[in-house]
Amino acid sequence: MVELAFDVVIAGAGPAGSTTAQRLARAGFRVALVDAQRFPRFKPCGEFMSPEVLPLLRDLGVFDDVQRVGAREVRGMLLHAHGQRVHGRFVDVGRALAPFDHGWAVRREVFDEVLLRAALRTGGVEFFEGFRAFELLRAADGTVEGLRAKNAGGEVLELLGSFTIGADGVRSMVASELGVRQPTKWLDKLALTTRYSDVPWGERAEVHFLEHGFFACAPVDGGLVSLNLVLDAAEFARTGLPRDEALEHWLELTPALGQRIRAGRRVDPVRGIGSMAMTTRAQTFDGAALVGDASGYVDPVTGEGIFFALKGAEALATALTQALHARRRDAAALAPYLEVRSREIAPRAALSTLLQRGLKHPSLVRAAFGVLARRPRLVDTLVSITGDYVPLSELRRPSVWWRALTERGGVA
Ligand SMILES: Cc1cc2nc3c(=O)[nH]c(=O)nc-3n(C[C@H](O)[C@H](O)[C@H](O)COP(=O)(O)OP(=O)(O)OC[C@H]3O[C@@H](n4cnc5c(N)ncnc54)[C@H](O)[C@@H]3O)c2cc1C
Repeated sequence: MVELAFDVVIAGAGPAGSTTAQRLARAGFRVALVDAQRFPRFKPCGEFMSPEVLPLLRDLGVFDDVQRVGAREVRGMLLHAHGQRVHGRFVDVGRALAPFDHGWAVRREVFDEVLLRAALRTGGVEFFEGFRAFELLRAADGTVEGLRAKNAGGEVLELLGSFTIGADGVRSMVASELGVRQPTKWLDKLALTTRYSDVPWGERAEVHFLEHGFFACAPVDGGLVSLNLVLDAAEFARTGLPRDEALEHWLELTPALGQRIRAGRRVDPVRGIGSMAMTTRAQTFDGAALVGDASGYVDPVTGEGIFFALKGAEALATALTQALHARRRDAAALAPYLEVRSREIAPRAALSTLLQRGLKHPSLVRAAFGVLARRPRLVDTLVSITGDYVPLSELRRPSVWWRALTERGGVA
């Protein structure tokens, strides 16, 4: 067994892990980054990034890189339900100015690779690729001191650090070992993902709400369209169809989308990912913290997971930097991270959960679309909220809602 010591050990090199690593390395710390997979690796995702992600990418020094690999500009969302269709754009809301009038969409194997390479370029990050973290190391008082990871050849590493970070995604081993992972049972969903070429597509992402789930699609690099079908697990099981046939079945039931998609060519397998939603009871510990999906995850209807991962990583890296300089390893030293989470992430995740609850009631969705179809400014406001740049405090201002409810016109 090889034993190595670092300032911080991070399990998971997705957006949360590699950007936490980059920020810590930039602050002068030595970081071990461990990922079970080899990169570039596929990650099931709608592949849409909200406008507020773009300034974060600029801060990470990868804005030009992401543009260069062909990120597509996504100028708003087309929402379909029960034969109705509304379009929302990313606009200024009250005093909140849109940082960009678009988000981006890019294949995750391409995007995550850009973030990882940027972390490795700092020179302060050692990457252990193909090593699955399987156990936390703890001192007698319970403080986390590192982790053990193993590769396919059976080689075991013992990585020690003042802090150990779980950035290992929705099925986080670190969160499980810390005993804080709680699956959200009522949100028991499955997702099927794939991509198509040669589909006539504009500059918008689309969400098509169904009785038991939704399709979400975005144009990505390479002239492709990324397609996700998210369904209640029970509904998927009820049909008993294999993935490819299940996707075809629901595309047939969704002609507004299905007809265009089927005119194209599927270029990827239909991949499935099972029940995803979970929360965590705590995110900071003596010697450890959770970030990104590992810290909690809502189903992806509003497409904010990448923002949560990057914003969480920014806040965590700042808190870790202060704690390490103060030679502290206790959970309380990471309080500033929790403050940012409760201001920037928790309320947005709660809104997304609320939306998921509403989607369980088709009559509510139908009624909501009836209202939205006559209120384009309201649609813009709601879509802009999912763009992650509207502080939720702004939503307490009556003038925002007055304008949203009374202003006519806009693009339908
Ligand atoms: C169907 C679907 C559609 C989505 N659509 C969108 C969207 O359009 N927009 C959006 O913003 N978000 C979307 N999301 C959410 C988004 O994909 C996640 O929120 C985001 O990937 C979180 O990043 P992360 O770094 O926390 O985790 P991940 O990206 O999952 O990265 C975790 C990494 O940890 C590694 N790992 C796992 N276990 C271990 C271990 N034991 N040891 C070492 N490494 C390990 C994995 O290999 C992986 O590389 C979607 C999610 C799904 C499932």
